[in-house]
Amino acid sequence: MSTSRFRRVRAWSRWLDTRVWRMGRRYYLPAISIILLLVVPLTLWSVWIEPDKLTVKTITIAIPNWPAGFASLKVVALSDLHVGAPHITLDKLREVVQQANEQQPDLIVLLGDYVIQGIPGGQFTDPDTFVEILKDLKASHGVYAVLGNHDWWLGEVQVTRAFERVGIRMLTNEAVRMERNGSTLWLAGLGDFFTRHDDLEKTMRSVTSPDPILAITHTPDIFLKLPPQVVLTLAGHTHGGQVNLPLLGRRVVPSDYGDKYAIGFVEEGERRLFVTPGIGTSILPVRFRVPPEISVLTITSK
Ligand SMILES: [Zn+2]
Repeated sequence: MSTSRFRRVRAWSRWLDTRVWRMGRRYYLPAISIILLLVVPLTLWSVWIEPDKLTVKTITIAIPNWPAGFASLKVVALSDLHVGAPHITLDKLREVVQQANEQQPDLIVLLGDYVIQGIPGGQFTDPDTFVEILKDLKASHGVYAVLGNHDWWLGEVQVTRAFERVGIRMLTNEAVRMERNGSTLWLAGLGDFFTRHDDLEKTMRSVTSPDPILAITHTPDIFLKLPPQVVLTLAGHTHGGQVNLPLLGRRVVPSDYGDKYAIGFVEEGERRLFVTPGIGTSILPVRFRVPPEISVLTITSK
């Protein structure tokens, strides 16, 4: 490079440096400061504060032809406990059990994913250990459970045996008949759809009358395949997306239907679904605008 060209390039680069520095002082530094001021507290909130909360959410669901004898049936739904995930200690589980019992429910349903596999900061807890706490759950019509994908990955027999040892009935593709004030209601537990352990035909074979069915299952996506006799389905699995960003919404929902069945009550024709965001976390130990929830449903007739 000739001397004059070298000088020109050096002068231009100095001008550019000065300009970038000025712009930096004017625009970049405030922008970076704002981002840091937002990101740091939001990260702290979503990693340490929100996942450690415990909320109780109540909802009333009215269903046509709901059996009269089961009017105002109070159901507590607990899902995705992921015991051993950050914040989900055995003490936390005792708090969940205590708050669930304080609702004085008629029925408690546990909707799967009790264990963890490899979440950062988590510590695997054996089902035989934590069922000793879950056994204190009390409901007049009993406590029933289904298996989630994480439980299937650990082992159906191991988890089922632990739960049934403390009197929690695991419903895997079978239904039980419940009677109240002369009415019949079926409670059907479906195997997890996400891991392809659902068997609807087998489940329906154990339903021996045309009375309404309340279905419990882990992954909500099976909801559209269920017959009209299933008047309400309760599910978990989605954690409500775990992170619900303003404007951008729930970006990560493990469902083939996007965020359509991510959380709460959905009614489609004769089908009704309630998805609880659950208690724990999996994969990443964060929650943002989807706090851990004990869902309390009062089911009445329309
Ligand atoms: Zn799941």
